[in-house]
Amino acid sequence: MVGGAVVVAGAALVLVLDVEVEVEVEVEVEAEAEVAGVTGAAVDPIPPIGVRSPISEWRGVAPAQAPRTSAARAGRARTVDRRRGEGGSGTVVERRRAGVLAPAPPPSSGPDAVNPVLHWRAVAPRTYVIRTFGCQMNEHDSERIAGVLEADGFVPADDPDGADVVVLNTCCIRENADNKLYGHLGHLRAAKQRRPDMQIAVAGCLAQKDRERILAKAPGVDVVFGTHNVGRAASLLREAARGGAVVEILEEAALEEGELFPSVLPVRRELGHAAWVTIQIGCDNSCAFCIVPAVRGTERSKPFGEVVGEVEVVAAGGVTEVTLLGQNVNSYGRDLATALRAAGRPVDDEVRIAGTAWAHDGARRPRPLFADLLRAVGAVEGIRRVRYTSPHPKDLRPETVEAMATTPAVCEHLHLPLQAGSDRVLAAMHRGYTAARYLERLADARDAIGDLAVTTDLIVGFPGETEADFEDTLGVVAEAAYDSAYTFVYSPRPGTEAAARVDEFVDPEEVADRFARLKVAVDRSALARHRARVGRDEEVVVEGPSRRDPAVLTGRTRQNKLAHFPPPTGPTLRAGTYATVRVTGAGAHHLTGRLVSVDARPTHRTRIPVLTD
Ligand code: SF4
Repeated sequence: MVGGAVVVAGAALVLVLDVEVEVEVEVEVEAEAEVAGVTGAAVDPIPPIGVRSPISEWRGVAPAQAPRTSAARAGRARTVDRRRGEGGSGTVVERRRAGVLAPAPPPSSGPDAVNPVLHWRAVAPRTYVIRTFGCQMNEHDSERIAGVLEADGFVPADDPDGADVVVLNTCCIRENADNKLYGHLGHLRAAKQRRPDMQIAVAGCLAQKDRERILAKAPGVDVVFGTHNVGRAASLLREAARGGAVVEILEEAALEEGELFPSVLPVRRELGHAAWVTIQIGCDNSCAFCIVPAVRGTERSKPFGEVVGEVEVVAAGGVTEVTLLGQNVNSYGRDLATALRAAGRPVDDEVRIAGTAWAHDGARRPRPLFADLLRAVGAVEGIRRVRYTSPHPKDLRPETVEAMATTPAVCEHLHLPLQAGSDRVLAAMHRGYTAARYLERLADARDAIGDLAVTTDLIVGFPGETEADFEDTLGVVAEAAYDSAYTFVYSPRPGTEAAARVDEFVDPEEVADRFARLKVAVDRSALARHRARVGRDEEVVVEGPSRRDPAVLTGRTRQNKLAHFPPPTGPTLRAGTYATVRVTGAGAHHLTGRLVSVDARPTHRTRIPVLTD
């Protein structure tokens, strides 16, 4: 087929293909999933103090079930693989269709033609639930998927087991996430046998990587879409209902600039007062253990003016805290130098790409720095707190530290992933710094920023790690005096350099022993850091009732620690309230205290409920 294809995805209008060639291939879909056969080393993150939980979440609240026609899967499958034809860039937009679902769609042509979209909506609101695996980037993508679905007429389900649509937003960084995904798909398959009109969608990194393999392992899945097309969630569900299971994976290079960042899509936020803002996608590094560059692509920075504009919009809606998101945030803007050169210096373009201050600075640098972005976002009216995650230690520039120290809204918290404390292991990981260099930069940050909390990521059992290497890690942990850490057992990810080093895999019993010792060291450090805060008054922003004890409220301090305290008598404090709490006790993972004063009430209206396993 030759011609253009225009896709309307939520609020985004996207030109996907200029020229299409359609190729049809016959494939067999295996009758049985291998869901129960997934194996591998478990990864067991220690919940870090105060860092927002990476634990998967069910989202939803909602009205009645929507009636839908039953579906049946045919035994044979058809695969459609559409590619750019001659004259295209060669970039693949992969779309595969397998299986045939049977809800008889309304006729879309002829005398009885009915617009299938309107028909769908006219029946009743359909309910959805999203389960998120992995990092904050995935949590943010889930908020966008929820926003896209709701913009299309879906409503959240109050009973996750009864939802019409279940979206699993996956992560492939840790092997445990694969296990969780296929375990859930096994359960969902049983649910789908009871309710064949239910739809299952798999999104995220694992979908981007495994593509149609997901359908082969879990035949009940209706839609697989990747990290670059979350805005297509609702459209793909409709397509699947009409014609059978769909796999649509977009490669990064196929995207127009406007749809690179999920922030352009509608959003449904978990906390009304706090917002994620994606400033960058992809990663140009090549850490030997990491699959992210393969599934998220190369680094692309969101234009400066668009980041600041997005923060202004959410601030106008009552958001007071923003977290800037990226795989390597402090290299923000590296690619913008190219865009600025291409812009040819019209000042409007420069302001959009690099910000007003940069465009009007006579002695400007070749590109805006992350530090410039911190200052600009911190200056937005209504924003009281700015956070970011994650920076790379090799890219932690003095300008960033200075911006943190001199911008009042930027919180006193630095998440600086160490990964390992042995120079030999760091080199094998291709991390680009030594332990001494890391500690030097950390010391500089602590000197410049008063009351700085520092958290990190650590991997135990990287291929070839010796006992001496591990003791080096313990040494750095002691010297760095972390407030908390995500600790992981090394888990080989197929396609990464480290996964091929099978001969050097560390004995699992040895790894388990090191992991336990590391946890003791981290907890000891965290407890000491927290006990030092007892007696201090801390600003917290209320997040709601504690998940463990609904009788107490939980707030988050500027250092990103959770503080639990009894609510005041009378009306409780709404999420988003700023208050002062006197710290009276400390644990390795939290603070406890009592309310001293209420300092500012929230201006947003709703808090999005989240159901947790
Ligand atoms: Fe992965 Fe390394 Fe990039 Fe982080 S910096 S996303 S660990 S490749």
